[in-house]
Amino acid sequence: YGLLLRQDPEMAEVLIGELERLRGGLQLIASENLASPAVLAALGSTLTNKYAEGYPGRRYYGGCEVVDRAEQLAIDRARRLFGAEHVNVQPHSGTSANLAAYAALLQPGDVVLAMALPHGGHLTHGSRVNFSGRWFDVVAYGVRRDTEMIDYDEVRELALRHRPKMIICGATSYPRTIDFAAFRGIADEAGAWLLADVAHTIGLMAGGAVPSAVPHADVVTFTTHKALRGPRGGGIMCTAELAARIDRAVFPFSQGGPLMHAVAAKAVAFGEALRPEFAEYARRVVENARVLADALAAEGMRPVSGGTDNHLALVDLRGFAPSGAVAEQRCADAGITLNRNAIPYDPEPPTVTSGIRIGTPCVTTQGMGAQEMKEVAALVAGAVRAPDAAGEIRAGVRELTAAYPAYPS
Ligand code: PLP
Repeated sequence: YGLLLRQDPEMAEVLIGELERLRGGLQLIASENLASPAVLAALGSTLTNKYAEGYPGRRYYGGCEVVDRAEQLAIDRARRLFGAEHVNVQPHSGTSANLAAYAALLQPGDVVLAMALPHGGHLTHGSRVNFSGRWFDVVAYGVRRDTEMIDYDEVRELALRHRPKMIICGATSYPRTIDFAAFRGIADEAGAWLLADVAHTIGLMAGGAVPSAVPHADVVTFTTHKALRGPRGGGIMCTAELAARIDRAVFPFSQGGPLMHAVAAKAVAFGEALRPEFAEYARRVVENARVLADALAAEGMRPVSGGTDNHLALVDLRGFAPSGAVAEQRCADAGITLNRNAIPYDPEPPTVTSGIRIGTPCVTTQGMGAQEMKEVAALVAGAVRAPDAAGEIRAGVRELTAAYPAYPS
């Protein structure tokens, strides 16, 4: 930060403050990660200057021969990583990717079947405050009360009753494996497109730690900044048949010039994910989440659905803490960052909630393993249970993060 310190000390202080926050606390937000210095270098590059509307070899601006190579590398690496027929790496975010997927496959007013937000779905899966709920007729499926897992019989029954034009699978806070083949079968029976939104699990898919949606879905949308550990951004994979529709839905329908520095950083992240170490990372993220969920259960914090198959645990705090919001604040006071989260059939409103969501991508990037997950569970439980002991918990957090620093210098 030397240059920025000299030119703009006010902003340099902000960046240093964020680095200190990352280094000094436990980052347990399931949708976050710590991008590598190589990814950050690409993000902070001169590629931010370039206008490149269009696609490699077909641009509406001159001087794109260099950035074309960046985008082609990103596309080729993603195709290799996921075995996809076609990849678009331009969406600015997961939301932008989903907007383009809707635009490619649907007309306003069409029926969509997607997971209910309070059961783990995302805003872009039909929330009334989002384009998806405003412009489309969204029917929601949820999880069963007893198992807290997706009820495929209910999904099928809703699909055959409402005949959606598109079914969405994939979620924001669902700790279990999603059966993409079952969704494919239901979509075929109902004559619907299948969109898999794997924003959360794409990194685990890349490392082979969870099943891939690519062989089953017509369109797969994703983010690059969660378990995949790339820059903030999105992407879309699809069949060759849908390639032109998807590309047109991104540019020119819903975006202008791509963020070429972000596209280059996505290529760097895909390159990292192609290495054998990344498969080991993805495997450890899932293993750590399992150990963490079990250790939280032993502390008296009930994991929704009884455990996890991926990178996150959703914890039911009823009987343990006043609410998810209170737990979030108590953890924050102790240097632990996580988020309140609705649990299925939550009696509390979304601003309060009865649960928290805890993820392992960041702490696994920092090198923590099973033993440390047990310590993390004890720290979280201690922070939630005993707000008066926040100072003591904070000291424990400092000890752990000093042993496994974020961005070691
Ligand atoms: N889809 C799912 C399932 C998500 O969990 C998220 C983000 O959390 C998104 C889409 C949106 O991603 P973004 O925040 O990049 O718009």
